[in-house]
Amino acid sequence: AEFLRLDAAAAEGSQAEDGEPPQPVVAVVGRPNVGKSTLVNRILGRREAVVQDTPGVTRDRIAYDATWRGRRFTLVDTGGWEPNASGLQASVAAQAELAMATADVVLLVVDATVGATSADEAVAKVLRRSKRPVVLAANKVDDERLVAETASLWSLGLGEPQPVSALHGRSSGDLLDVLVDALPEAPRETDAVAGGPRRVALVGKPNVGKSSLLNKLTGEERAVVDSVAGTTVDPVDSLVELDGEPWRFVDTAGLRKRVQTASGAEYYASLRTKSAIDSAEVAIVLLDASEPLSEQDLRIVTTVVDAGRALVLAFNKWDLVDEERRRQLDREIDRGLVRVPWAERVNVSALTGRAVRKLAPALRTALTSWDQRVPTGQLNSWLSDLIAATPPPVRGGKQPKVLFATQAGVRPPTLVLFTTGFLEAGYRRFVERKFRERFGFTGTPVRINVRVRE
Ligand code: GDP
Ligand code: GDP
Repeated sequence: AEFLRLDAAAAEGSQAEDGEPPQPVVAVVGRPNVGKSTLVNRILGRREAVVQDTPGVTRDRIAYDATWRGRRFTLVDTGGWEPNASGLQASVAAQAELAMATADVVLLVVDATVGATSADEAVAKVLRRSKRPVVLAANKVDDERLVAETASLWSLGLGEPQPVSALHGRSSGDLLDVLVDALPEAPRETDAVAGGPRRVALVGKPNVGKSSLLNKLTGEERAVVDSVAGTTVDPVDSLVELDGEPWRFVDTAGLRKRVQTASGAEYYASLRTKSAIDSAEVAIVLLDASEPLSEQDLRIVTTVVDAGRALVLAFNKWDLVDEERRRQLDREIDRGLVRVPWAERVNVSALTGRAVRKLAPALRTALTSWDQRVPTGQLNSWLSDLIAATPPPVRGGKQPKVLFATQAGVRPPTLVLFTTGFLEAGYRRFVERKFRERFGFTGTPVRINVRVRE
């Protein structure tokens, strides 16, 4: 029962649709030719816009990472959202509706040399209903003399017009200051890399060979000391050098203590497993290759995935595996480990030392993936192709649209898809599979959250 409780808590955490707040989103709206793309490029300093593997398809690349005064945000050029509209006014208004639904701040661009047109007014009317902040950019103010003209744009009812010249860059810094001030509180920065050796949890059910492997890795026959009754030893980590690099194996004191025989030992062992995983960055889940995979093995794997840690699967006691067992094991893996096809598998023997030096490269691969971030521009370029080829299934007569995506976080990599409707689990798994095919991410769970704001 205690096991189940642990698992239920972990599972709940992983199902949160709206977990960690992604970096704030700014959507740029306005009618054609007011200078939206020019302004987007100006704000980006054209850094990410340069990443173009397919020339001539710029409209697909709608979302980018931007930074101003240390604030990161996702900048969305809504130009590509409504290609076949039923008239300009309706189409720009629809674009504004979508922007309001998905963005934290809307940047409305108008052409100050033209003044407010009826299409601008239609958009402004939509945006005035929004609870989200709107910043009004009066573009094409290429010189001082034009600034006075922007005063007429107060009539849009969206506050002070910010004069700017996207083309020449005039006052773009002031505009960005206003924009960044309008952003919601910065999400918790979870990406900071803690210094020192990377933290590894060596976990697995009792008797799978954890102490033996640790001894093999440390190269010393560390005596397994029975804990003296009444002495509680604080969790102690071991520094282990693998492949010329130090690693911190967390909470290994438990591996040296023998508590399996005590009553309730299994429960305490599971708690310790959970806490080791939580304090690690990557887990080696040790499995006994000579025995059938058990529920307990799969529970430990699930705990790692739900905790969002990188994962290496090590099949121990490989010295006992013959052809027949090997075939069985393949079937057990196909059946039992379906959730983690992305995890690297290493076949080791703590007894003979077989393949234990393959652990360090596998750990490194997993951690590199765990830390990996796909730039927003590249992500959207890939995603728009994917969705064009295989759109999400229609639900209740409606085709959900995926407007754009960002990788909101790392450790583990977390994608946020901004959509106009619910995406079923099957489609999210499809997106994950394709994402991995394209970008790798071997050895780490990848989370896909969907933000629907309708
Ligand atoms: P979008 O359709 O809103 O994305 O507009 P574009 O960015 O494609 O710009 C439309 C036209 O306006 C282009 O010819 C730009 O060079 C021009 N333009 C954009 N910003 C400015 C500006 O600040 N000043 C002037 N004079 N022209 C601009
Ligand atoms: P722990 O409970 O996970 O720490 O497991 P131990 O390291 O105490 O190992 C349990 C038993 O499995 C011991 O008798 C070990 O000698 C044996 N063992 C560990 N690794 C191997 C291996 O690679 N091959 C074989 N044949 N036996 C192993």
